[in-house]
Amino acid sequence: MNFDSPITIALSKGRIFKQTLPLLAHAGIEPVGDPETSRKLILDTSHSQVKLVLIRATDVPTYVQWGAADLGVAGKDVLMEHGGEGLYEPLDLRIARCQMMVAGFKDAELSGNRLRIATKYVNSAKHYFAARGQQVDLIKLYGSMELAPLVGLADLIVDLVESGNTLKANGLVPLEHIADISSRVVVNKASWKMKHATVTSLLDALREAVGED
Ligand code: ATP
Ligand code: MG
Repeated sequence: MNFDSPITIALSKGRIFKQTLPLLAHAGIEPVGDPETSRKLILDTSHSQVKLVLIRATDVPTYVQWGAADLGVAGKDVLMEHGGEGLYEPLDLRIARCQMMVAGFKDAELSGNRLRIATKYVNSAKHYFAARGQQVDLIKLYGSMELAPLVGLADLIVDLVESGNTLKANGLVPLEHIADISSRVVVNKASWKMKHATVTSLLDALREAVGED
């Protein structure tokens, strides 16, 4: 592949990194060294024009928005929370798929006002309940949301569900579907213009790897 401009791609370690690697390889981009064990945050790749930066999943839209990375891969959950300012979202990679759900005890009350909702996704949760005219109290957590109903911190949680096993292990069930989640390529708006040929050719290669025409 012929890249005219240097490109920095923001990725998060873990499932997004693992599942994006084969797609990048299809575009001729492979990291140098073993990124999962390395402490390096900036990785060179087999392509002299392409660097990877490894950051927290929730920081990916921020890096791309401010142009610290030209593009990145982020979950739709993270993009919904971020709001998407300064970003284009041209491609669904269809990886790291799961669902954003309301969950709680089997017989939990879902209507009514002043329900307490514990979540990492306060904006998404607020919009979801506001859209049906419910005012809720949101409790921001950074992990282990399943614990909140068990200890009386919240009536319900909003979280990502894949198999439902974590919920089940804690005596909870998925109650309502909020959104289908998968990882998306996001592109900085200035990079989109200034590095258009390179961004386009990278997106074409990724699109082909995903199996979309
Ligand atoms: P950290 O673990 O560093 O706090 P994180 O939990 O956001 O960050 P991951 O667990 O790797 O990092 O999740 C990254 C992205 O993968 C999420 O934003 C979401 O889009 C997707 N994801 C999270 N959990 C699941 C899941 N159970 N199944 C499928 N995809 C998921
Ligand atoms: Mg995690």
